[in-house]
Amino acid sequence: MKKGKLVIVIGVPGVGKTTVINSALEYCKENKIEVEYVNYGDIMFEEAKKIVNNRDEIRKLPIEKQKQLQLNAANKIMEMVKDKNVLLDTHMFIRTENGYMPGLPIWVAEKLLPDSIVLIEASPEEISKRRKKDSNIRMREEDTSEKINEHQLMGRFGAASLAILTGCTVLILENKEGYYKEVGKKIASLFMR
Ligand code: ATP
Ligand code: AMP
Ligand code: MG
Repeated sequence: MKKGKLVIVIGVPGVGKTTVINSALEYCKENKIEVEYVNYGDIMFEEAKKIVNNRDEIRKLPIEKQKQLQLNAANKIMEMVKDKNVLLDTHMFIRTENGYMPGLPIWVAEKLLPDSIVLIEASPEEISKRRKKDSNIRMREEDTSEKINEHQLMGRFGAASLAILTGCTVLILENKEGYYKEVGKKIASLFMR
């Protein structure tokens, strides 16, 4: 029986998920709340690194391979989230060459049973700027504002669908330029109530 809380943080590439989660973890530590960090991409890359050079190549693999990596990661994460407070860093939809692939299809969501989904959003202009800022270490695609908006909208649809299917709550937070610590605090507060 799951006793800890599972909070899943989603948002388009470069919106700042990992950054706001780091702030949330610091805040939890200061307040003596134990929360473990799990990055879904890390778990998939652990297995995928035999066939890809970096984590941003995973989404270019054949869709069936991505699904297999996703399911194997779900089984590992299911074990990790038992009895603990966990912040899971992942995506609601991954843009693949075959179209949007769900990051949390029902067979994954049913294994994990999140308490809350936190949707991190920002303006397309800020997201593009952040993707460029990181381009030495990450291989994120350049997108038009329309495509970024479409991807963010898909995230909202996905979060709403999972809320209906699993009963989790959905929190939408705007990660404004320079305000990642404030966003982190709001995420951390989910473990305090
Ligand atoms: P991915 O899904 O590709 O892992 P991500 O959503 O985890 O992306 P981050 O790596 O956290 O994105 O952030 C991307 C870049 O944006 C980093 O350089 C980070 O420092 C910067 N950034 C994140 N949030 C903010 C913010 N509120 N203000 C300014 N810069 C930010
Ligand atoms: P990230 O560092 O969060 O961008 O994760 C790296 C890559 O891992 C993503 O670009 C996806 O290809 C993959 N990934 C992360 N989470 C999931 C998920 N839930 N389902 C499928 N692929 C995922
Ligand atoms: Mg990240």
